[in-house]
Amino acid sequence: TGHKEVHGFQTEVKQLLQLMIHSLYSNKEIFLRELVSNSADAADKLRFKALSNGDLYDGDANLRVRVKADKDANTITISDNGIGMTRDDVIAHLGTIAKSGTADFFSRLSGDQASDSQLIGQFGVGFYSAFIVADKVVVRTRAAGTEVSDGVEWTSAGEGDFSVENIEKSTRGTDIILFLKEEEKEFLDDYRLKSIVTKYSDHISIPVEMMSEEVAEVPASEGPDGEEIPAVAAIPAEWEGVNKAEALWTREKSDVSDDEYKEFYKHVSHDYGDPLLWAHNKVEGTTEYTSLLYVPEKAPFDMYNRERQHGLKLYVQRVFIMDDAEQFMPTYLRFVKGLLDSNDLPLNVSREILQDNKVTQAMRKGCTKRVITMLDKLGKKDAEKYQTFWDEFGQVLKEGPAEDMANKEAIAKLLRFASTENDNAVQNVSLNDYIERMKEGQDKIYYVVADSFEAAKNSPHLEVFRKKGIEVLLLSDRIDEWLMSHLTDFNEKQLASVTRGDLDLGDMDDAETKEAQEKIEKEFDSVVSRLKESLGDKVKDVRITHRLTDSPACIVTDDQDMSSQMMKLMQSVGQ
Ligand code: ADP
Ligand code: MG
Repeated sequence: TGHKEVHGFQTEVKQLLQLMIHSLYSNKEIFLRELVSNSADAADKLRFKALSNGDLYDGDANLRVRVKADKDANTITISDNGIGMTRDDVIAHLGTIAKSGTADFFSRLSGDQASDSQLIGQFGVGFYSAFIVADKVVVRTRAAGTEVSDGVEWTSAGEGDFSVENIEKSTRGTDIILFLKEEEKEFLDDYRLKSIVTKYSDHISIPVEMMSEEVAEVPASEGPDGEEIPAVAAIPAEWEGVNKAEALWTREKSDVSDDEYKEFYKHVSHDYGDPLLWAHNKVEGTTEYTSLLYVPEKAPFDMYNRERQHGLKLYVQRVFIMDDAEQFMPTYLRFVKGLLDSNDLPLNVSREILQDNKVTQAMRKGCTKRVITMLDKLGKKDAEKYQTFWDEFGQVLKEGPAEDMANKEAIAKLLRFASTENDNAVQNVSLNDYIERMKEGQDKIYYVVADSFEAAKNSPHLEVFRKKGIEVLLLSDRIDEWLMSHLTDFNEKQLASVTRGDLDLGDMDDAETKEAQEKIEKEFDSVVSRLKESLGDKVKDVRITHRLTDSPACIVTDDQDMSSQMMKLMQSVGQ
């Protein structure tokens, strides 16, 4: 024991603590949800490790978490017999390593209290939420498989630093002791604590236990008619479970309420916000599994960071196996969170085995379909909610057609674009909407790609389309050029850029205009030759165009050549 050290919190952790304490005052009780959730994770991790080393249980395999208030000491203690932490774990996880995404998160803070509070709501709060109600927190922990003398005590007042010291701890697992702030004493009330547990932690798969109230002995007495009423023995206080303690995904859909699904989402996703929608399915047949897939309401801060861990929680026959199993979702659906519980995979499955495995492939295929169907249904049923989804995740979904040939058409249905139909930047026009509005004789879906929405909207290439009342999709996201190079047709209609090649408006050019056009071409023949001469090698060709109504000239690319937007993209990366 001993060997006390003081460490400074990592800068981001310090900032996070400050912000959290100041912005979550209206929802203080979530500290208990976060700490119970960590205990459940710790139980999952121990169960997994014990699969290959049963000794880790050390005679105590009934994993649970206990919550106890002490009115005299003014403390709440949350105690588990999960995996515990070593000294190094404690230092790393409780103070010096910030969660992934923290840096991104801080770069978005404005300093404005109100909007920053909104932001923290989208960032997982976790362990540090203890400091919302406590002005001192002590963590006493011992890792499974270590000696009594290998315990560690972590102490902090949540300001600049924390201390760690080795202690003796007789039991495995972690105790979190919260020294409540003077004004937070209401949480010492057992009734209050119990209601918080059932509100947020009912679905946690290990029991959450609290001490029952002690019932005093009732001495023998005499009834009104002189008969003897025997004494009733005292009932001592004992630990009793207060939550359902049943893995939520194993229950029938009809037995699970929306609120339960939402709370469970927070546990599996480590997200503070709500899910936008979810799908819970039991799949039977050649591969058997249960999936519970969520689409979050808000995109994480680091969604575009390709190194960011993402993926589903994997269980095999109810036993937690791993977090962030990325093999079950294609990259363009990396925002999906949730879990899979397989009946077919072996309990000792590793990431390597998952890589190249028939079961994995079948589950991935099934889950991908599930998500696409869920989004398609939402798009048809609730345009407003779908728009929320699109604004958050549309950019990622646009990677789909390039990545997933098999589902290209289905993904294309989910896409939304800005369009000349309403001429504003909101991306809410689907390809099907477009097709419904196509002019008679029109056989292509027209689009323009530019650097910005303004540039797309004001592109001179659009003039003839506007004149003829033909709708054009206005694309200006970074990924759009990439998307369109993989999305060449939809519903048997070609997608055509208005900036490419000879524009053929097909049957929509009437004979009368054709004649007029030929006349103009003859008239300007000499102008064209002069331009060709003076531009020389700088251009491939100079042509008369009938696309423009107001602008004098525009640049186009050949059908086989790179588009002008792609050319700019290549130049920007130094090609
Ligand atoms: P998250 O749960 O999202 O990882 P937290 O801030 O809630 O983030 O917890 C940080 C880390 O501290 C956890 O990932 C885990 O490694 C460790 N930890 C927290 N509570 C416990 C506990 N009760 N038992 C074991 N480890 C824990
Ligand atoms: Mg946590």
